[in-house]
Amino acid sequence: MDLISIFRSFQNRLFDVLFSASQGFLYELWNDLMAALLSLAFLIILFVPMERVFRANKQAFFRPAWWLDFSFFLGQYLLWGGIMVYLLSHFSSWLNTWMPYSFREAVASQPWWLQMLEVVFLSDLLIYWGHRLQHRVEFLWRFHKVHHSAEHLDWLAAHREHPLDTVYTMGLINLPAIVLGFPLSTIIGLITFRGIWAIYIHSNVRFPLPFVRVLVGAPELHHWHHDQERDAGNYANISPLMDLLFGTYVCPDHEPKQFGIKEKSPRTYLGHMIEPLLPKNIKKRLRF
Ligand SMILES: [Zn+2]
Ligand SMILES: [Zn+2]
Repeated sequence: MDLISIFRSFQNRLFDVLFSASQGFLYELWNDLMAALLSLAFLIILFVPMERVFRANKQAFFRPAWWLDFSFFLGQYLLWGGIMVYLLSHFSSWLNTWMPYSFREAVASQPWWLQMLEVVFLSDLLIYWGHRLQHRVEFLWRFHKVHHSAEHLDWLAAHREHPLDTVYTMGLINLPAIVLGFPLSTIIGLITFRGIWAIYIHSNVRFPLPFVRVLVGAPELHHWHHDQERDAGNYANISPLMDLLFGTYVCPDHEPKQFGIKEKSPRTYLGHMIEPLLPKNIKKRLRF
């Protein structure tokens, strides 16, 4: 075989590899885009009427920074969602190799409802303290403040999160289920439920149901977590039990005056992605 034919066969193989890779990539992108559009339709049908009937704050559908939060929504579906599932499944199989068989057997021998209660309780406990640390430790706050930079809350604002903040939260929330040996399908079910709940507690809704609020949590509680004060309370994700236990439950009978943070924050999606990664002296010189 001469040099030219070796080069040609190499060129053809490279073309084949690139062509099939790009086809696979486009197929994945198309699937993710369809999933995003379906979820968007589902969320609009579910939350928009609810926000009209039980409105907490007066605001238009396309309120300020709507398109910025929509970029976060698209980013979660098109860029970060797949990476999260990949990281979680690897973390889960890595941890599985370390867990003793007898421990897993003891967990599995309990009734399913007890296992469920254990997982929810431990997750809530971990995420409660993990969340308090996000507000207290400066390194964690630089990523978590992206979520708190939202000045208008609704079902869409729930998606405003830095991906590294999501990795931290997802890791903590799912740690008990992984340690106790729940199958990945159950864990993904729990993630989906918590995801929809997270969207619900950010929605622009206020229900006049104090008993339900204390038992399972409510948007008006999380709205106070988004008050401009950095340590405003209500760190729990679902039930406010942990906030009640540790003295951080707040529930005034009105909405906070202003959501957001006192620090300056970027106005673009790319700015929000990059800014937390930069050292302070560079941040000061750059304007996003
Ligand atoms: Zn927070
Ligand atoms: Zn929030």
